[in-house]
Amino acid sequence: MKIKVLGCYGAELKDFHSTTFLINDTLLLDAGTITSALTLDEQMNIHSILVTHSHLDHTKDILFLADNVIVGENNTSVEIISIPEVIDNLKSHLLNDKIYPDFTVLPTIEKPILQFKPIKTGEPICIDGLTVIAIPVNHAVDAVGYIIRDKKSSIVYTGDTGTTDKIWEEANKLPDLKAVFIETSFPNRLSKLAEISGHLTPSMLKDQLDKLKNPDASILVFHMKPQHLPELEHDLAEIKNRRITTLKQGEVFEF
Ligand SMILES: [Zn+2]
Ligand SMILES: [Zn+2]
Repeated sequence: MKIKVLGCYGAELKDFHSTTFLINDTLLLDAGTITSALTLDEQMNIHSILVTHSHLDHTKDILFLADNVIVGENNTSVEIISIPEVIDNLKSHLLNDKIYPDFTVLPTIEKPILQFKPIKTGEPICIDGLTVIAIPVNHAVDAVGYIIRDKKSSIVYTGDTGTTDKIWEEANKLPDLKAVFIETSFPNRLSKLAEISGHLTPSMLKDQLDKLKNPDASILVFHMKPQHLPELEHDLAEIKNRRITTLKQGEVFEF
């Protein structure tokens, strides 16, 4: 499984972009940073987007991607995949023909450039040879993380979450778990803000990792608030867990 980091921060600043990962060139995890990170040809390759939740830093580039790849009547649709609660939010507040055109009916209702695909938590689906399972997490709005498996490896992607349990129960069932992509947004000093907004601090991250039984999986941290980056890196180093790495944009992983 090849995973490229298109954006890995919890805000938008010069050189720091919001969260999106590209898997095997065709599947996106979230949609905060697509069009500024990929060429038009690379954007045309995308078949599906797994959305964790409706927040704008994870969804805004759905609109700009659709606008770029809508080239004619014979477009192949891009599937927007998530739980029904997230899809309802996207329909009401993003793809509503007011913020921007409703690309679920363009260029034609019969062959739109975007199609919603609702899925149920805990039920595996198959996408481009990968098995994907949505697992509920604990954020300020309805949100899921994803477990993604191919024949060799599994990875866990938390999306945005505060303290949570179910995803660790599921991660502990994976014998081939290679990596956990986990958010850590705020430094320990801002733990109150992290709690009310449904995010993690390094100290809360440590408590989450204590629930993970796999001793070898890489712990790849994303969604750091760039304005607090030095403090976050200091607090993360204090955990003294050699498996933890903070992600950088443009990195490519093979699992
Ligand atoms: Zn969020
Ligand atoms: Zn976010």
